Amino acid sequence: MNYNHDVASELIKQNIAKLLAALPDGVEVVAAAKTRTPEEVLEAVQAGIKIIGENYVKEAKEAHELVGRRAKWHFIGTLRKHNVRKTVLEIFDMIESVDSLEIAREIDRRCAQIGKIMPILIEVNSGREPQKSGTLPEDVERLVREISSLGNIQVMGLMTMGPRFGNPEDFRPYFTETRRIFEKIKGLKLPNVEMRYLSMGMTNSYKVALEEGANIIRIGTRIFGERD
Ligand SMILES: *Cc1c(COP(=O)(O)O)cnc(C)c1O
Repeated sequence: MNYNHDVASELIKQNIAKLLAALPDGVEVVAAAKTRTPEEVLEAVQAGIKIIGENYVKEAKEAHELVGRRAKWHFIGTLRKHNVRKTVLEIFDMIESVDSLEIAREIDRRCAQIGKIMPILIEVNSGREPQKSGTLPEDVERLVREISSLGNIQVMGLMTMGPRFGNPEDFRPYFTETRRIFEKIKGLKLPNVEMRYLSMGMTNSYKVALEEGANIIRIGTRIFGERD
């Protein structure tokens, strides 16, 4: 143990304690772990984090090797077809970023091979940004209906990022819109669809997201510090 390591570890602990103490009941925190070392991820778990969010398969595998089942694992990055492998599906407890029928079919096919039913969220491109991943708001219901017929996937809600802003208040309309779609689909009571989770809000926007109904928030910087 060296001095810098202890200081970093103490900071992660304090950040998590402060964050968790101020959250309402029923809200789950996903620690967004991109660029962090497996040791940092383990420290977050030891400090009370129950869910790790991974953007990259390689980082997920490395962190999972150290942390294992001491946490749950959510995939929150851009999923490509060639990444939907057995070893990947075995790690993850939820995939938050499904945005096409094609990728859903691939997850379904591979999960059938390993006898798993994968909980997923549909990622909504609430900012309608052309280069961003996610399904356009008007296409979400159709995609949910299509995916609901797949036997090895269970739709459990929606996720959104929203455009990047400096001012947290600027996120609000995108969160409101995603919440509206969430409630609408929930009201349809589609078979094999259980609209339970609304994953919205990051370090600079999670307070607004909570006001707009999020029950999963994805936090990186406020837990681990600034990324390099
Ligand atoms: C990085 C990331 C986050 C967390 O971002 P911070 O601003 O560091 O809290 C949340 N969600 C996704 C999908 C991310 O890639």
